[in-house]
Amino acid sequence: MDKTFKDFKLHPDVHEGLTAMGFEKPTPIQEQALPIILEGKDLIGIAQTGTGKTAAFLLPAMTKILEGDRKGIGALIVVPTRELAIQIDQAIEGLGYFGGLSSMAIYGGGDGADFNQEKKALTSDTDIIVVTPGRFMSHLNLGYVDLSKISLFILDEADRMLDMGFHQDITRIVKECNPDRQTLLFSATMPANIRQLAKQIQKDPEQINIALSKPAEGVLQGAYVVFDHQKPKLIAHLLSGKNLKSVIVFSSTKKGVNDVYRILKQNKLNCASISSDLEQTQREQVMLDFKNRKTTILVATDVVSRGIDIDDIELVINYDVPNEAADYVHRIGRTARAEKTGVGLTLITPHDQGKFLKIEELIEQEIRKLKVPEELGDVPTYDPKSNARSGGGRGNYNKKGKGGGGKRKPFRKKGA
Ligand code: ADP
Ligand code: MG
Repeated sequence: MDKTFKDFKLHPDVHEGLTAMGFEKPTPIQEQALPIILEGKDLIGIAQTGTGKTAAFLLPAMTKILEGDRKGIGALIVVPTRELAIQIDQAIEGLGYFGGLSSMAIYGGGDGADFNQEKKALTSDTDIIVVTPGRFMSHLNLGYVDLSKISLFILDEADRMLDMGFHQDITRIVKECNPDRQTLLFSATMPANIRQLAKQIQKDPEQINIALSKPAEGVLQGAYVVFDHQKPKLIAHLLSGKNLKSVIVFSSTKKGVNDVYRILKQNKLNCASISSDLEQTQREQVMLDFKNRKTTILVATDVVSRGIDIDDIELVINYDVPNEAADYVHRIGRTARAEKTGVGLTLITPHDQGKFLKIEELIEQEIRKLKVPEELGDVPTYDPKSNARSGGGRGNYNKKGKGGGGKRKPFRKKGA
């Protein structure tokens, strides 16, 4: 028999939140994580994108907070990007509505008024605080943040956080935390540095491992083996005249994003682009238009490839091969969420063949090479072993975009 949420001792207000959100059955990671977290144990949760990690930690965290004295900050959630912070904050708003849980997302890019509002939230009895490390460190360094009573410390997308160089910040934050807290660490992958981090900040953690870095089963994957100069024509061909509703095109570089955007515009396609160059308010607007289907095609760098939850993306195209094999899984994870199907396509130039082979090795799957339209001319052969001079070098992340005076939602009071 499949379990339902009723089988778990969640707070009644949390059950109500689940009903309101239309969640009936727990996903596999939720089913495994809930009892462990509710028992008070530390946890390492390894699962790919789209598996429902957010609710896996929020549901038991909310239950514990609602059952506690609600003095001071109850839980601190640290995440790599502002988009993810906003998304988790929204999930708290939805799932925590009936319990009147208060929360605040704290991330870079705001102005002085935002800072004061954040300070206020950090010095009141806010139930859950969601932060990106950079901005939170500014508050922490000013001395008024008291983490000595938090009951939960949660790291989401820990692998990405380490990739972005946040290890020191995390160490510093943990130093300030209640030594008796419960620590939850979620990550899509489990490299050595994550194991090390877990050792450093957790006590005797349980570990659950859901699907080892394999794309969700509903994704149809394919790849086109092409020369560099054929990419613009191919992308126009793939997206023109198709009546698509929701597509993301990823590129590892801002230049790639700009190139694709220009090509699509030339072909009169309904598209927008997003990269860390945009100001906070612009980024939020672009994401909103895409979510609302005002924009059909979103062209993006890695900023949006992890954690961001947009439903019903039917097609993801990798305009170039991701530098890190795990990023392939993350990007492809944008499609086929929650048991739907989707398509993931990748363009592979000779220089990228070696990197693509690494992806095929990681997911233990040979991805089908699709036929390139004949009018594009001769194509290279897929021969990654001899083309593999490229290696897997790391892409450039942009830790911080330019500042922008983004409007935040007002700080919500308990019971509001
Ligand atoms: P992850 O963090 O693993 O990438 P998310 O927590 O963002 O995944 O969840 C992915 C999507 O699945 C979201 O749209 C979320 O609302 C939805 N979802 C999560 N849990 C459930 C559930 N038990 N039932 C139905 N939908 C769910
Ligand atoms: Mg997530």
